[in-house]
Amino acid sequence: MKRETKLMHYGRSPKPGPANPPVVRASTILHETVASFRDTNKRREKDDTVLSYGRRGTTTAYALANAVCDLEGGDASFLFPTGIAALAGAISAYSSSGDHVLIVDSIFPATRTYCENQLRRNGVEIDYFSADAIDIDEWVKPNTKVVILETPGSNTFDIMDLSKFCKNAKKHNVIIIADNTYGSGWYYRPLEFGCDVSVIAGTKYLSGHADVMMGIATSRQEISAPLRQLVHNTGQILAPDEAYACLRGMRTLNLRLERHEQTGLALANWLLMRDEVVEVLHPGLSSHPGSEIWKRDASGCNGMFSVKFKLSFAADDFMDSLTLFSIGTSWGGFESLVMPIEPYKNRKYKPENTSLPMIRFQTGLEHQDDLLDDLSNAFSSLK
Ligand SMILES: *Cc1c(COP(=O)(O)O)cnc(C)c1O
Repeated sequence: MKRETKLMHYGRSPKPGPANPPVVRASTILHETVASFRDTNKRREKDDTVLSYGRRGTTTAYALANAVCDLEGGDASFLFPTGIAALAGAISAYSSSGDHVLIVDSIFPATRTYCENQLRRNGVEIDYFSADAIDIDEWVKPNTKVVILETPGSNTFDIMDLSKFCKNAKKHNVIIIADNTYGSGWYYRPLEFGCDVSVIAGTKYLSGHADVMMGIATSRQEISAPLRQLVHNTGQILAPDEAYACLRGMRTLNLRLERHEQTGLALANWLLMRDEVVEVLHPGLSSHPGSEIWKRDASGCNGMFSVKFKLSFAADDFMDSLTLFSIGTSWGGFESLVMPIEPYKNRKYKPENTSLPMIRFQTGLEHQDDLLDDLSNAFSSLK
């Protein structure tokens, strides 16, 4: 069955029943007999979808976890209250005091903060490798246990050659964790390229309506056990209302992404022609480094890109003049956003021109013509 069709059927209750899985709120699960109680506690150790106690989630969360697990092509998926919680959970499931963790330099800034502040404090050594690396030979140590990567990288959309990288890195017997928020379970499957765990911040395109926080980590069969144990031991789960809203949003994941891609590319190409612009960072533009790898490995682009402007450009005034683009963090919702970024501030490997003003765009689902008019008017207002 095509995955577009599957998106419509994930979590379906037996008929007669609702099209969407109901919100099931529970802490205690009641039993009629001791035998049932004992049996449930036994079965839940082998089956993540046994209703046993609210800390292990309810049927609403299971429906969402199963849907994402199927999209990602994994063995098991585990829900967390935010994307960062999912990344932190995945990283700490596979690293302990005395271990060494390698992180791609273009990682999402809050993941970097987690590693710098929490991992280091817990006695884990960390280092960064450049986003164009095709192996970890230059950075690996005897105690390297985990590699964290993200492609395209946050804010600058650096493309990694995942299959080549994973094949080489695997020689060092490491666990590879991919942040797959950009692809959001639709554009590519990190596990197919050799990653061990794929993490999606469902806060973004999965839920898609700027009103849900959630993260999900999906693992390959051979290595699910430590992640499952961490999730259960630390009490990680997503509340049923959030799980419901995320799965509801996912029904239109492919349609929304298609439109985000179209509009994003149209705007990126239009901006490329402007005198004020030095560079447009968008994995779908042939001018973007690694775009041929992205084209080979992924089925499309989302609505995100960043723009480097000339030094004299009044970026803040430009953003203030926009009326359809709001100023705000996060992305993946239906609404267009801009925000000022300084992506190279904390990086180890910096290109030239890092002092130029930069804006990150998230193109929403508004009509492309209105967004182009908005940009055009904002440029004119600066003169
Ligand atoms: C937003 C984001 C996260 C974190 O998700 P939250 O739900 O905000 O914690 C992680 N990685 C990437 C690439 C993101 O864009």
